[in-house]
Order: sequence, then C-alpha cells, then structure tokens
Amino acid sequence: MKLVVRVKLLPTPEQAAALEATLRAVNDAATWVSTLAHNQRVFRNYDLRRHAYGQIKDNYGLAAQAAQHVIKKVTDAYATLHANLRNGQAGKPGSARRERALAKPIVFRPGAAQPFDDRCLSWQMDARTVSIWTTWGRMKSVAFTASADQLTTLAAYRKGESDLVYRDGMWFLIATCDLLDVPVIDPDGFLGVDLGIANIAITGDGVRHSGKALNAVRHRHRELRRRLQRKNTKSAKRLLKKRRRKEARFAADTNHTIAKRIVTEATRTGQGIALEDLQGIRDRVRLRKPQRVTLHSWSFHQLGRFIAYKAARAGVAVVYVDPAYTSQGCSACGHVDKKNRPDQETFLCTSCGFAEHADVNAARNIAARGVTSWAVSHAA
Ligand SMILES: [Zn+2]
Repeated sequence: MKLVVRVKLLPTPEQAAALEATLRAVNDAATWVSTLAHNQRVFRNYDLRRHAYGQIKDNYGLAAQAAQHVIKKVTDAYATLHANLRNGQAGKPGSARRERALAKPIVFRPGAAQPFDDRCLSWQMDARTVSIWTTWGRMKSVAFTASADQLTTLAAYRKGESDLVYRDGMWFLIATCDLLDVPVIDPDGFLGVDLGIANIAITGDGVRHSGKALNAVRHRHRELRRRLQRKNTKSAKRLLKKRRRKEARFAADTNHTIAKRIVTEATRTGQGIALEDLQGIRDRVRLRKPQRVTLHSWSFHQLGRFIAYKAARAGVAVVYVDPAYTSQGCSACGHVDKKNRPDQETFLCTSCGFAEHADVNAARNIAARGVTSWAVSHAA
C-alpha cells in the first residue's frame, strides 16, 4: 500500500530564496520544453530528451537529474492531457473547449510541484532536516516539521521521489511511503462507525467524535466567503482560495485525528471496523437547507480513506456495509420503524422499548452488518 506524507519545511530566508529560484527555474524550463513539444508535436520522453536535455541543463542551470525530471514532468502532463482528450473529458471533437485545450502548450506555474529523487534530496530523520539540490548549490540542513506518527512512517517506509511544492507562502515536501502489506488479524467482533454532521463519526461503543470545531470553522469561512464573493476583486479571489485551502487542511487534520482514534480503539479491543458504504451519501443524509452547506461529502470519503489505510497498516479488518435503514432499525430486537426515531438524537424502539442515542444505535447496526458480511466472505 502506498501513501503520501506531507511535511512542512522551515527554511531560513536564504534557503527559501534558493528553493524559490530552483522551483522557478525547473518550471520555467518545463514550460519551455512544453512549448517545444507542442510546436514540434514531439511528446515521447526519449525524443524530447534528445531535443531538449542539453539546452535546459545549460540555459536554466539544472543538474542532470533535475533536467530529466523536468522532461518527464512535461511528457506526463501531455500523456494526461491526451488521455483526457481521448476519453472525451475535454469536450467533443470540434468543441470550443477541446480546441482551447489543443491550441496552446501546457504552462507550468512557478510554484508547481517538482519531483526530487534520492540523489537530489536526502533526509536526516534524527536532525529533522533535509539536504536538497538547488540551482544555487546543495542546501544542507533545511529544517522540517512532522508529527511523531509521520516521522515513524517516513523513517520506516519512505521510498523514491518526493515532490517539492510552494503553496500559500509555505514550502512542503510530499514524500511517498511504500508500506509493506500487514496481514489482517481475524477480528473479534466489529466496531461500527456512523457518519454524520453534528458528530462526524460515532462508534458503537458510544464514543462521539464531535464535528463542533469543524462546523464552527466552516460557518466562519462561509460568512467570510460571502463577503469576499460580493467584493469580487482579484485580491478577494486570492484570499478566497487561501481560505478554502485552510479549511480543507483543518478538515483533513480533524479526519486524521478521528481515524487514528477509531483504529487505535479497534486495535486495542481486537475488533474489525465496519464502515458505511458511502455510495450516494448525499441522498442518504437528508438535511434541512441550512445544514446542507455544512455537508462536505468529500470529507466523509476522506475520513473513510484515512481509516482504511490506518487500519491496513495495523492489520485491522475493514468491511463496508449497506447503510440502508441502519438509523430506523432497533439494534436490540431488529424491529424497523420510522417511529423508532422520535427526534434527530433519540432512538426509542416502539416494539421492545430499547432506548439509545440514535447514532450509537445506528453504529451498532452497522457493526452487526459488519459481522455478517465478514462471516459470509470468510465462510470458505
Ligand atoms: Zn427493539
């Protein structure tokens, strides 16, 4: 299993200037190669290398590895574009959109990501620094920050290239980690996870992972967004984009924390994890209008992804179950009735009298379905 770890760099002003010059040089070079490729209709790596390698090395001050990465970046970008054209994602043949996509060469932003391999970038895990090739020479001791969890993962599994990116005034390295496949432990029961808005996730053991902080941030951002959209100036748009990224980062941090707690709990108790199959979550979570904007279905998908890979790393079994009627069914006797839910928070069985927080009841139903689905798929 592969996953990426993103660490923030803390360069000194001099190091930051070197990084900036470097990223600008490789992306300027990429745009130049891209223009050449577009004008001469040469898109294969081998051919482009013959045409451009020597020139970008000399004209942009690139090391051999960097020049090769630049050419590969360009050929990859065109391969993606051509694939999109083939499967019709850029519009029908002859359409204005498609013509636009074909008319001009691909342009690389000055801060666009650039891959660095082990020859151009080395990691000193104990010192929390990297040594990186720049157009100003090798920069040693560039500090970075990472969580304890990230450090362990990097030290054990980091492999191959890392991407250097500049975003919102910050420098990041995005490292690829190749995790070995951990054998899945035969689960002793399942921990059901119910996803919602007020509580992002709630487990069958009654642990609630509140969405309060996240919802507060989203509301604050929504207000700001409204004001900025009304302004509609260039700087407002820039600020808007920055805000959106900040909100996404906050949501990702929240999801990481929740996923980690759930997987830790499953590991501790020897249980597997039962998740809702999220196909069509927008249809399932029916909400009153003001709440609808708070629902970011991608955020649920992301949480599901985080849980899945953290579980895989720990050898915890994960099953996906159909969530239909899990909120109306009684986890004690199985009786399904709309009336079992007198309000949003409460579950009260009209048949056996069982009472529980509505989401906890739903999570237990999800857990029960997890047990069945595991038994069926492992019957042989
Ligand atoms: Zn009941």
